[in-house]
Amino acid sequence: MKKGIHPEYHKVTVTCISCGATFESGSTKNEIRVDTCSKCHPFYTGEQKFAVAAGRVDRFNKRVAASKK
Ligand SMILES: [Zn+2]
Repeated sequence: MKKGIHPEYHKVTVTCISCGATFESGSTKNEIRVDTCSKCHPFYTGEQKFAVAAGRVDRFNKRVAASKK
């Protein structure tokens, strides 16, 4: 590897915004925030948190509607 051009790879704590879960991963960043994780993604929970996702779509649609006025 060429020296001086590679970002440092280290352990980071990944925080899930939706459910608050944290887990460790490796990255060149200091902190990672994700919208969904394996604890709250519908695929793993069986659509348990689908209402949360729908709420976000709802808020987005309201913003779009507001910007059209
Ligand atoms: Zn999560």
